[in-house]
Amino acid sequence: MNDKCLMCGTPMKGTRENIKDDLIGLDNVTLKGVMVYRCPKCGEREVGIYKIEELHRRLAMTVARRREKLGPKEIRFLRKYLGLSSKDFADKMGVDKTTVSKWERVDAPAPMGQPAERLLRLMVMVDKPIEEYPLEETGLVEARPVRMVAEEGKGTEAWRIVPAS
Ligand SMILES: [Zn+2]
Repeated sequence: MNDKCLMCGTPMKGTRENIKDDLIGLDNVTLKGVMVYRCPKCGEREVGIYKIEELHRRLAMTVARRREKLGPKEIRFLRKYLGLSSKDFADKMGVDKTTVSKWERVDAPAPMGQPAERLLRLMVMVDKPIEEYPLEETGLVEARPVRMVAEEGKGTEAWRIVPAS
C-alpha cells in the first residue's frame, strides 16, 4: 500500500471502515473493518484488502451454494473468480459469447437455464483450477458408442484406459 497519494503526493491517512460499495462487483456485500487510506488534501481513496484471493474464494463459494437463482452480477462475479474471459466462459459452457453478455446484462438479463447455472456453480464448488476440466472440447463430435479397453496398470496408476483397436 502506498503511503503517499498517487494523485497529489500528500501522505495518506489510514482508518478502519466498513465499506459497502461495488468494490468487488457484488451489491450488498459489506467488508467490515477494512483499511481505507484517504488523502487529506484531494480526497483520493485507496482500500487495502487483507488476503483478497481468500476473500474472493469465500464469497464465490457462498454465492455458488445459495439456493436463490444467480443474478447477472453474481454470474459475472463467479466467471471472473474462475479467471475466465467472456469468450473462454462461453466455450466452457457451450454457448456463444452473446449469450454470456445477455446473462450478465444488469438492466435486462436473460435467464440462465438451470443446467448452465448448475454447471457454473459446480465449476466454483470443485475448487480446483478449471483448466483441469477440458469441457470446451467435449460434445462437439457426432455421438458414437464408447469402445475402449480398461487394463490393470503398473505403479501409481491402478487402471489404464486404452482405445480399442
Ligand atoms: Zn491527494
